[in-house]
Amino acid sequence: MIPFNKPYLTGNETKYIEEAVASGKISGNGIFTQKCQTFFEDKYNFKKALLTTSCTDALEMCALLADIKPGDEVIVPSYTFVSSALAFIRQNAHIVFADSYPNNPNIDADKIESLITPKTKAIVVVHYAGIACDMEKIMRIAEKNNLIVIEDAAQAIDSYCIFEDGTRKALGSIGHLGAFSFHETKNIISGEGGMLTVNDDRFIERAEIIWEKGTNRALFFRGEINKYGWVDTGSSFLPSEIISAFLWAQLENIEKIQQKRLEIWNGYYEGLKNNPSIKLPTIPKYATNNAHMFYIVCKNLDSRTNLISKLKENNILAVFHYLSLHKSEFYAKKHDGRNLLNSDKFEDCLLRLPLFYEQTEEQQKKIINIINSFS
Ligand SMILES: *Cc1c(COP(=O)(O)O)cnc(C)c1O
Repeated sequence: MIPFNKPYLTGNETKYIEEAVASGKISGNGIFTQKCQTFFEDKYNFKKALLTTSCTDALEMCALLADIKPGDEVIVPSYTFVSSALAFIRQNAHIVFADSYPNNPNIDADKIESLITPKTKAIVVVHYAGIACDMEKIMRIAEKNNLIVIEDAAQAIDSYCIFEDGTRKALGSIGHLGAFSFHETKNIISGEGGMLTVNDDRFIERAEIIWEKGTNRALFFRGEINKYGWVDTGSSFLPSEIISAFLWAQLENIEKIQQKRLEIWNGYYEGLKNNPSIKLPTIPKYATNNAHMFYIVCKNLDSRTNLISKLKENNILAVFHYLSLHKSEFYAKKHDGRNLLNSDKFEDCLLRLPLFYEQTEEQQKKIINIINSFS
């Protein structure tokens, strides 16, 4: 069986976990957590990085930091994972779902302004497959309308947006707030895990407080105040050192992991680019590719269903992805009835192919051959 995903272990994960255990400090915000956070801040220019227990958690922190209140409207793409919307639902916001581009599952930046009302508080962008949304345009819209931009960068580690003046900014460093995932299906993993990034000074101190159960404990441990107490809302969002130790082993190998994933991604692209019955991912000129995912877009639902079963007959697991959130059981009744046809098209036609570090060329050739014979 060729699995869809296989978590890659770099070799040092258990060694660092043993170090964390031996150090006697296994709760959160210890040496490994701080090493990971500093690494991310230095490499990707985040003003502040805080590890969390998941991306879902980091998004909940974003909703608290953005001070989302009942009745506030938050614009979210429909073609995304539930967590992108869930964090704001928990604050009783109204979600205004946005459509994708016709040729790219990302939020169509040209359609955002028509969704803005006086109640709009924030825009959540999702960098699908690690490919940047049009952040220059989106930040301009946000600034004009005084909105907070939250990047769901769950899939977007080590990927960039290139601005018109040529500057490259890491995804997660552009919006006011960002959220990453280190779930075992992502490029860099810790089983479950995530990270909040804060790029606006206004939110930094409060982010640390919300992270530590509404207390100013982090400031206390840095010696910035002489006693700590309950000062705000929050939760226990920080991971234990055991998780951070695992993550550190992954980060030491990030270049190697990314290079390998890109090779696999390019192998698929070369092998499938002349197939007229499927469409391949498009990477806009303002985006880079972090090889989080290789997907194809089939002509219709039937051809995708057929291809999935042909692959399965050959012991290959390829999987479709999101169901449009505006039509979900939970949200359909609350949605305002607008059709989001591009999102629905990706729901029906997008197919994700196996992509994992230990994938062999032989396995990839087999997958490509089957797709080229049956699609
Ligand atoms: C994986 C993913 C999440 C959730 O990440 P967790 O760490 O599992 O909470 C959220 N949004 C997107 C777009 C994702 O791909």
